[in-house]
Amino acid sequence: MDLAALLDRIADDVAPEIGRGAVADYIPALARVEPRQFGMAIAEVDGSVHGVGDWRRPFSIQSMSKVFTLALVLAHDDGVWTRVGREPSGDPFNSLVQLEHEDGIPRNPFINAGALVVTDELAHHGDATEALLRFLRKESGHPEIDVDSEVAASEAEHADRNRALAYFMASYRNMRNPVPAVLDQYVRQCSIAMSCHDVARSAVFLARHGLRNDGSRLLGQSAAKRVNAVMLTCGTYDAAGEFAYRVGLPGKSGVGGGIVAIVPGRCAVCVWSPGLDARGNSVAGVAALDRFTTLTGWSIF
Ligand code: GLN
Repeated sequence: MDLAALLDRIADDVAPEIGRGAVADYIPALARVEPRQFGMAIAEVDGSVHGVGDWRRPFSIQSMSKVFTLALVLAHDDGVWTRVGREPSGDPFNSLVQLEHEDGIPRNPFINAGALVVTDELAHHGDATEALLRFLRKESGHPEIDVDSEVAASEAEHADRNRALAYFMASYRNMRNPVPAVLDQYVRQCSIAMSCHDVARSAVFLARHGLRNDGSRLLGQSAAKRVNAVMLTCGTYDAAGEFAYRVGLPGKSGVGGGIVAIVPGRCAVCVWSPGLDARGNSVAGVAALDRFTTLTGWSIF
């Protein structure tokens, strides 16, 4: 398959969707982003990368970071599963309601409450953000990848809901580290800026059943399968059913407008366009992945 030609075709097909939806406006640093941008990259398991549009422009990865922090935690051990579930929540990504009914155990690692637990667990092994940056820089080949300090400062200023989630879980003894430290790490992870190229290259270990770009193993085959499974069922929040229906791949979105999707055995795909639908998923991004699996037949179904 000519993936460069495929990407050109997808970009043409989704052009009417680019700029639709609303950019995230909960912090000024994201509200300012020009909505009419679109990039898409495919990183194959053999190491080749293809892209179209703004695929080399860094953007705020936001909740896509949750995939990488989960993988890094699971690379140590699978103890985190006693602290977080793996069922879809059916609620918005920053919702508090289930936590009280479920004794401070978040439904899954890809909603904010679950990701706070994962970050807390990762911080138990050292500086969580440094571990994440080290991994992303190595996999992408871009040592300059870093936290966008303006986004991080803005996130920290508007983190009351995440703070509430973390303190609430602490009241159930589901926080090991002090809440302010965990929150700081979480905010910094969300504020990392990366391009579609970098995200796709960093995620391709999930298509390679746990093997990193240098051939070393990050995750065992079962753990990699499980991360993909949780992405499929929980990666796009309360739209995970619709995403599976339209795209048919494990995927993880972020409110910066990025979505990373995995075709096991073949490739990782990252698409970015800042306009979001009501559930916080990129409108043009979902449309592009829909076209991608339709044109290639590379859905897991
Ligand atoms: N920083 C955002 C938050 O914690 C990330 C949410 C997202 O991308 N869905 O609310």
